[in-house]
This record gives sequence, structure tokens and C-alpha cells, in this order.
Amino acid sequence: MAENQNAESKKVEKDSVVSLDYTLTLDDGQVVDSSQGREPLDYLHGHGQLIAGLEKELQGMEVGEEKEVTVAPGEGYGERDPNAVEVVPLDIFPADMELTPGMGIQLQDGSGQVFQAYVVEVRPDGVVLDFNHPLAGQTLHFNVKVVGVRPATEEELAHGHAHSGGHEH
Ligand code: ZN
Repeated sequence: MAENQNAESKKVEKDSVVSLDYTLTLDDGQVVDSSQGREPLDYLHGHGQLIAGLEKELQGMEVGEEKEVTVAPGEGYGERDPNAVEVVPLDIFPADMELTPGMGIQLQDGSGQVFQAYVVEVRPDGVVLDFNHPLAGQTLHFNVKVVGVRPATEEELAHGHAHSGGHEH
């Protein structure tokens, strides 16, 4: 096996494990996610682990390179669907469950399909749930810096994700 064939490569390409410092900012300047003060994010490039619009821009970047990437909603978390907001009865939730605005919950329909939703508001007549991703409809502004690139191991490729950064099995 020529498993070190990419060992010389310091460029981001398919099947690289990339260490990334990043900050995600919205149009209004609000920082919603960042690796600052934490370990860089390790991910397996080319396997859909990041949103499409960001992964595409990281392709070919070199270690030490920094970039501003703007991602439109269509290549980020999708457009907001105004019809994906529903009021559900309070009694479908366990009585001891504390529901707070912004909280993410999972719901299952009759056929077993699981939906992710976010609590908008708790009212006397029910809970307002938003089935859109919280970042749907947002233009995303990433500042990214590639701090490491290495070839993925066969195990990582089989699993479809990186194993560094504390992820173990
Ligand atoms: Zn794994």
C-alpha cells in the first residue's frame, strides 16, 4: 500500500484531514461559531462534513493560508421556509421537560421519521416550533485558516470522518 503518497502534500484535497481555525459571522456582525479559544476543527475533506459552499472554497488551500469565504443560503443551511413553522400541543412533550426559546428538539412522526425543530415560543395553547435550521436564510461569512493537512487513514475513510480532536471509537 502506498499509504503515504500524499504525505508531501500540504494542500487541501479530497481525503485530506484538515485542521481549521474558523470564525462564522452573520450579516449583522454577530459571531455565531468560532474555534477561537478551542482546538481547531478537524474534518475529512470531500465527504460532505462541512456545508457545500465552504468545502468548495477550502479545496486547494495550503497550510498557513487564510481566507474570507461568503456562503449564500443556497450553499449553506438553505432558504427559510415560512411554512415550516407550526404550533404543536404542549401535551406531546413530557410534563417535566423544560421548553425554552431557541432550544433544539427532535420529533418523530407516525412513520418513524425524525425531524429537528427549534422552539420559538411557549404559549398557553401550545409550543411554536420552527423546522428551519436556525441559520437558514442567512448569508454566512467565514474567516478560515488552514492550520494542518494530513492524509486520512483507511479507518477514517471507511468511517467518513476525522479521528483526531478527541473523536474515538
Ligand atoms: Zn469513526
